[in-house]
Amino acid sequence: MIKLPQDNSEINCAKCGACAPVCPVFEAEGRDSLTARGRMHLLSASSNRPSALLADMFSRCLLCGACEQVCSRQLPITQIIAHVRSRLPQPLNLSKLQQTTACIVLGMPALVEVLVKAGIGLRRIYSLPQDSGLRLKLALLEERTPAAPLPLEFSHPQTDCSYFTGCFARHLQPSIVTATTNLLKECKLTPYISADQCCCGLAAWSSGRLEQARELAKRNIEAFRETKGPILTSCASCSAHLLAYPDLFAESDPWWARAKAFAARVREFTEFFNEHLPNFTRSCRLQIFYHDPCHLRFRKNGMTTPRQLLKKTGYSILEPKDGPHCCGQGGLFHLTCPDTSAKIFAKSSLQALAANPDYITSTCSGCLIQYQQGLVAQNKKIQVVHLAILLNFSNPCTTNHVLY
Ligand code: SF4
Ligand code: SF4
Repeated sequence: MIKLPQDNSEINCAKCGACAPVCPVFEAEGRDSLTARGRMHLLSASSNRPSALLADMFSRCLLCGACEQVCSRQLPITQIIAHVRSRLPQPLNLSKLQQTTACIVLGMPALVEVLVKAGIGLRRIYSLPQDSGLRLKLALLEERTPAAPLPLEFSHPQTDCSYFTGCFARHLQPSIVTATTNLLKECKLTPYISADQCCCGLAAWSSGRLEQARELAKRNIEAFRETKGPILTSCASCSAHLLAYPDLFAESDPWWARAKAFAARVREFTEFFNEHLPNFTRSCRLQIFYHDPCHLRFRKNGMTTPRQLLKKTGYSILEPKDGPHCCGQGGLFHLTCPDTSAKIFAKSSLQALAANPDYITSTCSGCLIQYQQGLVAQNKKIQVVHLAILLNFSNPCTTNHVLY
């Protein structure tokens, strides 16, 4: 578990301001109070008592981690923010219903599946207005047709590797699971996809529900207890949270050692397939815009590995003119701060569209949701697909992967 300041007086922020220019929320809103410096200042200047100001300032953070990369005091800023949220009665500007849906329901895969089917049914019956937020959300759900069944294959746990799908791929867009499973087969690997796996717990952790995050972590560790070898995940954000499982437990807790052993086996999607997939060339050179997820780009080789993978599998990459930019989704941030989220997305999507790509791709569920919804809302026809789908295209020039 990361050692956090015991009380607010121990937060020794240097007030250097290095965190401001890299903060997407500061860029969008221009308020110093919404930077890491502003939040650390409020903490060190206030008592531990929850207040409306504290709740508001601490809910307006994406937990993107950009500030931690430049912090001159190496403060564990995202951990501090999550722990402050855990002390607040209503840590995010969300209604009780939204919080329950976002955090508790995600821990119940069977219920999520029922809700997804209900959503697909609703979409078939009602023609929602073009600008309806619900229409954009329902559009994310892939149809369950005989041609695209839910592709969970439960092989024996004693297999070469395991696959942690994440909620988005498992419930909303199972074609990602099919595509990833196909890629594993190309690498001569048979994945074990445990039926007992559940939400990684990132949403619970981000909203300060630390006990719930621990429970979800324990369930996932248990779900893969009989397996050996790597645990692949196709979502960059899930991989970041699974790798951080040991931080959820004190070292004296028996679960800490189990979490550490589990995290040591977790493999992020691009790292895994860059190592295992063979090189190949394509007759048609498609131009791809790869969006860097914040949960990956700050990790070692987090920006180089996805580009290496795209190049070795025959794709040309278009780079953003001003470097990578957060998409503004931030897990629950797009619900708690929709206006700021939209401003951040406007900058990110402008960069992507200016590059004029054939496809936009990423490996983060949150980034894909933000881009798929956001570009449909802007009435742009460009396709946004998970990288696994692109890598599965034998001839993408003639393939039309329709999401909407
Ligand atoms: S985590 Fe991201 S959004 Fe939050 S303060 Fe740091 S840079 Fe800003
Ligand atoms: S970079 Fe770190 S030390 Fe500097 S102002 Fe921001 S939080 Fe404080």
